[in-house]
Amino acid sequence: MACNPGKFSTKQKFNKLLEEYLIKHRDDNNFALIPQKYDSVVQEVKESKVEKSKTPRDLRRLARYDVLVVSDREKLIQPLKKDDAAVSYYVTTEELFDIIDEIHQKTGHGGRNRMLHKSKIKYCNITRTAVMMYLSVCEDCQRKRPVTSKGHVSQTILSKTFASRGQVDLIDMQSKEIDGFLIVVELIFAISLVL
Ligand SMILES: [Zn+2]
Repeated sequence: MACNPGKFSTKQKFNKLLEEYLIKHRDDNNFALIPQKYDSVVQEVKESKVEKSKTPRDLRRLARYDVLVVSDREKLIQPLKKDDAAVSYYVTTEELFDIIDEIHQKTGHGGRNRMLHKSKIKYCNITRTAVMMYLSVCEDCQRKRPVTSKGHVSQTILSKTFASRGQVDLIDMQSKEIDGFLIVVELIFAISLVL
């Protein structure tokens, strides 16, 4: 793989946000399959499939998951329905960044809706939260789009600490909410005034 420090740090930022989100939403997130959980769900699904007298728990599990062997690897998928044209895969938290990143690049830095639309063609647990998390760390998108958009709170604080010395610090506190996950961005502009 080519060495790309910029990209590496974007991945690190994303994974950090994801980690923080998962700590906060340990029990109420519907997309996070850490690799160990993914593997245990695969095992449970396989057991439920061969269970002769299926419990309601087996049935709930089988309504949500199925296992498909792809190139000798057991993949967790959404059970196929009659009209389904393609297989829809579950992804692990470890794969999340690379998959979302690929979708984002293929859509030419596409926005949330385009990315979600595209992700649903092949994956079933890439959520709005995960996409928004990704967009908040894509440096190109953050540069291109105004940080303050509809629904975001922007508050500018004028610090007079250095005003007497002819310098004014403007601290722009901007918050972004990602499904109840609040990120506060502090932008500090130091302006030198000739008084
Ligand atoms: Zn982007």
